[in-house]
Amino acid sequence: MGTESKYFIPLSEEQTQVNSYSYEIGDEFFESLEDAEIKRGKASVKLTCRKDSSSFALHFSIDGMVYIPCDRCLDDMEQPISTEGKLIVRFGEEQETEDEDTIFLPESEKGIDVQWNIYEFIALAIPLRHVHPDGLCNQEMAAKFASIVVGGEEDPAHEGGQTEKPTDPRWDVLKKIKK
Ligand SMILES: [Zn+2]
Repeated sequence: MGTESKYFIPLSEEQTQVNSYSYEIGDEFFESLEDAEIKRGKASVKLTCRKDSSSFALHFSIDGMVYIPCDRCLDDMEQPISTEGKLIVRFGEEQETEDEDTIFLPESEKGIDVQWNIYEFIALAIPLRHVHPDGLCNQEMAAKFASIVVGGEEDPAHEGGQTEKPTDPRWDVLKKIKK
C-alpha cells in the first residue's frame, strides 16, 4: 500500500516522542475497503505510536457505531462500538513470537497503513449476537423467522396454503396452555 493513504503511519528509527493521530471515519472508510462486510458506520479513532527499543507500539482507541443486519429481523440496526486495540510493528524477517499482535515489515517499508487494522478492531468488537432492542424489530420479518424456527410441528391448517399470515409461536404455546 502506498504512503498516500490517510491511514499511513510513518515509522522511523529516529522517532523519539509518542506520535498521536486521530481520525473521524464514516461510510467512505468502509466503502473503500473491498473485503469489508460492514458497509456503513462512523467512529472516532485515536491512535498513538510509541517507539520502543526494537519495535513500535501502536495503540488504538475506537468509539462509534456501525450499521449491521439484526440477527432477528435482518433490518439494519445501530451497533455501538467502543474498543481498544494494539499492534506491535517490527522491521525485519518474520520470526516466531508469542505476541500475535506483532506485524513484521520489510526494512524497505517507511511505515504501515492501518486502515484494515482499524476495520478489524471494529469488526471484532461486534457482539456475536446483535439484535434491535425489544420491540424495535421489523415485526413482519421477525414473525416469519420465528415461524421458520418453529417448523416441524406445523398446524395442519397451514398446509393448504390458505394462511398467509405467519403465526407467532408464542400464541401456539399459549393455546396449548389454555387446553
Ligand atoms: Zn431486528
